[in-house]
Amino acid sequence: MRHCDVLVIGGGIIGCSIAYYASKYGREVTIIEKGEFVSGTSSRCDGNILAIDKDPGFDSQMSLFSQRLVDEWSKDLGNSFEYRAPGSILVCESDEEMEAAKRWVDRQKAAGLPFRMLDRQDIRQESPYFADDLLGGLECATDSTVNPYLLAFTLLEEAKKQGAKAWKQTEVKQVKKEENGTFTVDTSNGVFTADHVVNAAGVWAPRIGEMLDLSIPIEPRKGHIIVASRQQHVGSRKVMEFGYLISKFGGVRRVDPITEKYGVALVFEPTESQNFLIGSSREFVGFNTKVNNEVIKCIANRAIRFYPKMADMMVIRSYAGLRPWTEDHLPIISSVEGIPNYYIAAGHEGDGISLAAVTGKIIEELINEKETSIPIEPLRFERFKERVITG
Ligand SMILES: Cc1cc2nc3c(=O)[nH]c(=O)nc-3n(C[C@H](O)[C@H](O)[C@H](O)COP(=O)(O)OP(=O)(O)OC[C@H]3O[C@@H](n4cnc5c(N)ncnc54)[C@H](O)[C@@H]3O)c2cc1C
Repeated sequence: MRHCDVLVIGGGIIGCSIAYYASKYGREVTIIEKGEFVSGTSSRCDGNILAIDKDPGFDSQMSLFSQRLVDEWSKDLGNSFEYRAPGSILVCESDEEMEAAKRWVDRQKAAGLPFRMLDRQDIRQESPYFADDLLGGLECATDSTVNPYLLAFTLLEEAKKQGAKAWKQTEVKQVKKEENGTFTVDTSNGVFTADHVVNAAGVWAPRIGEMLDLSIPIEPRKGHIIVASRQQHVGSRKVMEFGYLISKFGGVRRVDPITEKYGVALVFEPTESQNFLIGSSREFVGFNTKVNNEVIKCIANRAIRFYPKMADMMVIRSYAGLRPWTEDHLPIISSVEGIPNYYIAAGHEGDGISLAAVTGKIIEELINEKETSIPIEPLRFERFKERVITG
């Protein structure tokens, strides 16, 4: 039997960030992962740290705070994780989208965020490969990007230097709250006891929650990505179509039925080595991460609509991951009423890379009973229960 102060369940980017901050601020941390570290969603995604697609207000302020923490990490952490902060843009293909983009920019600017509209000329300057008929778009100047896999491992290594212990191939099978207030955690690799437990198991967080009779409303929302090979310089920063916002928040788009069916909207990310990540799709189809070639074809067609030049690109590979979706698109970063010293840090949907830093920081602050850096009311686990009761 091994005893730990803080036991983090789940070795994705969220668990690694929590292990980093908790060990940095004096806690003795053990992090356990059922497979290899960073083998879940955090290795099957893009690496954008975005405010551009966040609802103005709490959501975007939380993202800006997380962006600032990642910027600090880029100076403080030992390893490089391909951090760059060139900003990002959304492009519009109709007058209707331009009008909606203008409203989006006005709301963001009113909230104090560095947004601006782009006209046809700006778009031309951004990349000569854009389709001629694009009308313009908008820019968020602070948006940044990382290699999520490298960042998660950097955090894990830093946590280990700060004394954290890491166990892979260690699957949690049962969690029990003892009368003396501690937890007993049965795993495929022996029994652990802990004073604090953090459930950071991404799309699997509901299964860990069930072990203490908690119903955690997170569902897997599948997304596909194409990796295209290095070639001429297509662009330096992240580009999305405005329709991505509609896809994310569930509005109606004017696209063909297949694009609508798979929730495909252009996301273009140049990596540091100038390979390209081209996405993505959004579907509720369970836990299967097998690549569906029909979806890949649809993503490729969508990319060619915005960048006709992409028809010449070589595809290296494709992959799919599961976003941990919640119905209000906000993560759960929370203690749990009735279970002292138990925390949930999951449900980041398509924003877990963006919000890993702020999540780790908040959980450390909760464990150390500090005032939190940002208000956490909208992130509470109990918000779902209350909605069911009042609804
Ligand atoms: C196509 C796609 C593109 C994306 N692009 C972006 C982006 O550009 N920017 C952004 O911010 N976000 C993006 N995301 C979202 C982001 O990838 C996720 O929000 C984030 O990776 C979630 O991290 P996590 O640590 O919660 O989950 P995971 O990385 O899945 O980690 C959870 C871990 O828990 C482990 N686990 C589960 N059950 C157990 C158990 N019983 N015992 C022990 N361990 C267990 C799992 O093995 C897993 O490793 C994207 C997602 C997808 C799918």
